[in-house]
Amino acid sequence: MPVPAPLPGLLVRGATIVDASGERPGDVLIRDGRIVEVGDVHTATDERVLAATGRYLTPGLIDCHIHLCYEAGPDPRAMTKKTDPQLAVEAREHAHATLMAGVTTARDCGGRGFVETSVRTAIQSRQIEGPRLLTSGHPIVRKGGHMSYFGRQTETVEDCRRAAREQVAAGVDWLKVAATGGVTTPNVDPRAAELTEEAIRAVVEEGAKDKRPVAAHAHGGDGIRNSLAAGVRSLEHGTFLDETMMRTMVAKGVFLVPTLVATRAMIEAGAAKGVPEFAVRKAEEIDPIRRRAFLQAVDRGVQIAMGTDAGTPFNPHGANAREVELMVEAGMTPQQALEASTITAAKLLGIASEVGLVEPGYIADLLVLAKNPFEEPAAYRRDLVAVAQSGRVLLDRTSV
Ligand SMILES: [Zn+2]
Repeated sequence: MPVPAPLPGLLVRGATIVDASGERPGDVLIRDGRIVEVGDVHTATDERVLAATGRYLTPGLIDCHIHLCYEAGPDPRAMTKKTDPQLAVEAREHAHATLMAGVTTARDCGGRGFVETSVRTAIQSRQIEGPRLLTSGHPIVRKGGHMSYFGRQTETVEDCRRAAREQVAAGVDWLKVAATGGVTTPNVDPRAAELTEEAIRAVVEEGAKDKRPVAAHAHGGDGIRNSLAAGVRSLEHGTFLDETMMRTMVAKGVFLVPTLVATRAMIEAGAAKGVPEFAVRKAEEIDPIRRRAFLQAVDRGVQIAMGTDAGTPFNPHGANAREVELMVEAGMTPQQALEASTITAAKLLGIASEVGLVEPGYIADLLVLAKNPFEEPAAYRRDLVAVAQSGRVLLDRTSV
């Protein structure tokens, strides 16, 4: 796929800017991939102009939990029938679909064979198009536990430390642990802890040597407590969060990545579409609990970063923005949902001075929407008119 040449400059004219700071009118001037001016811009030079009068300009979305190696079919274990080169071909397509849906930055929360990390590197060097990616390599899991069919299986604390070192050595940006069972693996219980506090701490310590933070997949309370005590940066899913855990998260600055769409998509598709019955049953059990915990976490001031678990059953790459709608449906305001999907997500990823706002100095990852996302949270999905990444326009339907 051809990669557009760098542009001399870009002027987005006439839009209403909508980001975590609120709404205001303003032109946006971009040079060398960064926003250099916001407001009433007068320029005599030959920037490309994106006419956006009557439209809405937002930061690109940031999805903190995707799986490029998952195909979004009924059962993620389909991966076991594929070779790494096959996964790589698919992961590249998934990355492209993600970007064209307005997700300009994403964190991959677990793949196989460092396929997702190779895709990241190819995107960085502009060989292929995709979101700015941070990857975590193989999830570090208990032997026989959740995601063990592709994760790095471990049996001891020392083994966890070695597993973390292996991922870092392969060039990952993050580390991922499965602190509890999960939905899509048979014979594991989301309520049950699968790694001890000591095991997770070994991963945290090993990652810290090279500044690689840890994301913990955690549904049940014991696994959440183990993760928080061990010092993870983000909790993925967070189904059985209670008041004490939420206070700890606020005090320690731990983020919650809710991934509401994952269970919803499995329930909607159901066994009728081939989702394994054990997965549908677990998804139905935890879905209402997760939504309650999410709303409570919002109320208690836990930092929420958007994530979809894209690639899980019927949760396809490129439909990521649906999570924004579900966060609003579960009780966030549209402005809170935008914040979670942009600047707060950037904070979790450690790049909040680079992406997530429409302000001078920020990288020009921008979306043009036909409707105001503060009035219509589905606008990111239904009314996406243009996508720019680092100032390069990758999708432009402004004249349609
Ligand atoms: Zn996941």
